[in-house]
Amino acid sequence: MSHNPVRPWRNIDRRKSRQIMVGNVPVGGDAPISVQTMTNTITSDVAATIAQVQRAADAGADIVRVSTPDESSTRALKEIVRESPVPIVADIHFHYKRAIEAAEAGAACLRINPGNIGDEKRVAEVIRAAKDHGCSIRIGVNAGSLEKHLLEKYGEPCPDAMVESGLDHIRILQDHDFHEFKISVKASDVFMSAAAYQQLADATDAPIHLGITEAGGLMSGTIKSAIGLGNLLWMGIGDTMRVSLSADPVEEVKVGFEILKSLGLRHRGVNIISCPSCARQGFDVIKTVETLEKRLEHIKTPMSLSIIGCVVNGPGEALMTDVGFTGGGAGSGMVYLAGKASHKMSNDQMIEHIVEEVEKKAAQLDAEAAQDAAE
Ligand code: SF4
Repeated sequence: MSHNPVRPWRNIDRRKSRQIMVGNVPVGGDAPISVQTMTNTITSDVAATIAQVQRAADAGADIVRVSTPDESSTRALKEIVRESPVPIVADIHFHYKRAIEAAEAGAACLRINPGNIGDEKRVAEVIRAAKDHGCSIRIGVNAGSLEKHLLEKYGEPCPDAMVESGLDHIRILQDHDFHEFKISVKASDVFMSAAAYQQLADATDAPIHLGITEAGGLMSGTIKSAIGLGNLLWMGIGDTMRVSLSADPVEEVKVGFEILKSLGLRHRGVNIISCPSCARQGFDVIKTVETLEKRLEHIKTPMSLSIIGCVVNGPGEALMTDVGFTGGGAGSGMVYLAGKASHKMSNDQMIEHIVEEVEKKAAQLDAEAAQDAAE
């Protein structure tokens, strides 16, 4: 829950869900909404996969999923799990035996697709392996691969069919006394996904994994995900999320965090507030923001920075940010610290200076947080 007594219009009441563990990452309950991504390397290329997992983790991924389509992948999983700084989820389709091998290899969670994992006997074997090896399970329903009998019953993929598929599998897991599961009902259509997730949220207290599947490229997929997932998160639905983009997994992680940051649900790194720029700008806002985004990628401390072209909005925005810069004129602008005008700085030295000020502020905030934790 993110309750803001001063600004109640910012409040989001999160749906109450059970908490499970995916490795050492809690999912559901009052745990922070975790951000996931998925590797797109050949899983049996252990070095490439580990390198990609590491990059995703550096970008902030809490959990990473890897595809395990064959035995060479599940064999590789052991080393990937050992080297990974974050819990690894094995993505299973069609072959329930891969799920058992993945559990044996140390996967933190098994993603199974009810539409293609096979009959209850096979699911029971997967559950046994998950219990034996301490894995959680994600029931990953996908509109594009629903069970045949549901497609016959409903005529086409639809929210009712997706939720029924998910609930049927929840029942199987519960009948086998297995409760460490989360669930997703993904579709590439924003309306279908949103409707399915809303129904699901009312029907179960299991933690929910959000996603719009096959959302598209970096730009279109980001927009689709921000609308679909943003809308659900705003309603309080969702305990963990993956933004699916036809792009580098690192981009998926960045977009996931940006969506959570926009809703005040999670904070990581520098939230840059910048104006679109116009003829009034006192410096090149667009180029400056592009450069600062790259130069400040290493900052993990949640903080805010305003980069505003002129005094129309600069001082007002700076009031609400940790560090600010507002263009003035004559080749220089005003630096704001903690909302107050602090000193002038020339445009040509401004980037280096802002990076230094942000690093200084991040160190100060980290030290304060460490002290608070020690008290
Ligand atoms: S803050 Fe100033 S420079 Fe930026 S868009 Fe507004 S008027 Fe233009």
